Amino acid sequence: MGTVIDAATKDNDGSALASKKVTIIFVLGGPGSGKGTQCANIVQHYGYTHLSAGDLLRAERDSGSENGTMIDNMIAEGKIVPSEVTIKLLERAILETDNDKFLIDGFPRNEENRAAFESVTGIEPEFVLFFDCSEEEMTRRLLSRNQGRTDDNIETIKKRFKVYMESSLPVIEYYNSKGKVRRPIIYICP
Ligand code: AMP
Repeated sequence: MGTVIDAATKDNDGSALASKKVTIIFVLGGPGSGKGTQCANIVQHYGYTHLSAGDLLRAERDSGSENGTMIDNMIAEGKIVPSEVTIKLLERAILETDNDKFLIDGFPRNEENRAAFESVTGIEPEFVLFFDCSEEEMTRRLLSRNQGRTDDNIETIKKRFKVYMESSLPVIEYYNSKGKVRRPIIYICP
């Protein structure tokens, strides 16, 4: 297995993540590929804490934060929220959690996310779990999950797929070139 990485930070404000040693696995895949579902299964068996970037952003939006409207608009358009917002939320969640092992789901979404997270926190993931799923299956899952989300409609889903193909797949390719991508095999019991 890889190493536990010292979460040293280069942030000017001396981010408190510097004092916490954490192991991080990024969980990536297209919208509706089952990242959240499988993270819930992994948590039960391996003692990780699951942090979903999308869930953190939705909670921040709903908290009445000054960034709420901007986050709401970005989500409704399937766009990537600026890194500084998402990274701050992830840092805060890591610090508030009494665990040192994290599954970070839906992050990094683009190269800028990836580079900014590494530079701000000094953390590299242990590895990346990649859920490779057909667009047809992802669409079927998104349209049938009924979670009341503003972005689970066909127009926004098309935009989310475009962002995934153009911005998120290159991040997976980057980690693949470093030998860090793992593709789990999922068995679905009848
Ligand atoms: P998800 O819950 O992962 O399907 O994400 C829903 C939406 O939240 C995305 O379409 C983006 O608008 C936003 N979002 C999720 N993760 C990120 C991220 N890492 N960076 C920026 N925006 C994100």
